[in-house]
Amino acid sequence: MPTMATSAFPLIKVVDIPGKGKGVVALESIPKGTRILSEKPRIRLSDLRGIDSLSLSEDDLYFFLSFPSHGKDEENPVQSRLKHFLPCVGSVDNAIGLFETICRVNHTCYSPLGRPNALYMWREDLKEESNSDRYPYIFRTSSNASSVLSATEDIAAMEEITVSYLQYNIHTEDPFIYLRRKFGFECSCLGCLRPASARQKSVERIKDFRQFTDGLPARIALGGPLGDPPKSLLDSIEKYILMICAEGYVWQLGSCAHDAFQLCAFHGDADSASKWEALVRDSHEILQGADSPADQKSQKLAAFPKTFREWKVLGSQKLNGPCRANKYSHTSTQSQILVDRGGPGHSPQHRSANRHCI
Ligand SMILES: [Zn+2]
Repeated sequence: MPTMATSAFPLIKVVDIPGKGKGVVALESIPKGTRILSEKPRIRLSDLRGIDSLSLSEDDLYFFLSFPSHGKDEENPVQSRLKHFLPCVGSVDNAIGLFETICRVNHTCYSPLGRPNALYMWREDLKEESNSDRYPYIFRTSSNASSVLSATEDIAAMEEITVSYLQYNIHTEDPFIYLRRKFGFECSCLGCLRPASARQKSVERIKDFRQFTDGLPARIALGGPLGDPPKSLLDSIEKYILMICAEGYVWQLGSCAHDAFQLCAFHGDADSASKWEALVRDSHEILQGADSPADQKSQKLAAFPKTFREWKVLGSQKLNGPCRANKYSHTSTQSQILVDRGGPGHSPQHRSANRHCI
């Protein structure tokens, strides 16, 4: 039973999880933002087609066959297993890696009732950012590619570590149906155990959010008499942040907060812009690490918002920083799921009574 026991990473262990086969648990408490594990692939393929001609050692074949099968394509047991745990592997330019431990981490959906506590990233796709020794976890060549598992929530000792096989992107299809179709398993997370009608309501809210954010850059940039009043657009951004975070997709906070930052920057409100970008910085710090280029960029913008290249292009107007979105700040210890019963359709009068803008 492999136990990852390097001094640089917290202790985790692959164990049997009732109803799920194998899984990974923490053997000690792991604070949010911790890099749990960086793992090189046990088997690396240049592309999926390579699996047919792959000649596996007896040990590697045993490793492959220790995973559950997709349930189809039984004439090729290796291929059917590859399909099953494909979401657990890194993939860039069709190259994939199969990982001894990271491939054992089970899935949890983002939903109003819960979310995964970790995230994995295949670091090879960041190789263009690796020209500095400041980023030792980014691997420079494909032969060094690794997958990095990081804690996105505080994890208690003996708690199961889970990731989303759909990463942290929003999905406009019911995840339960998508996972069954794509990966051949029936998710039993709290979100998927809801009635289909409740899951469908989530899907509709997520589609609404997607439609709003797709049109947002143009609305932010328009300004003038033809555009939305900036304060009302800022209110809308915050309403949608609260809605999507209540759906479990707390990682949308970073990109939405940056939209709010841009709106404030276009209108020359340094104080408000800085407060919005601070939420972006905190998000990047947990997701990508404080030493990541994305985090350093948002650190700079939060501290010096006037360095934004399109500063004050739409004039000068006092707006406001986050009012209620702060509760989802990723460095806050209070960023657990907080179901917001308001939403885009909620009465603005009622909402404004509870306002505590910073
Ligand atoms: Zn689920």
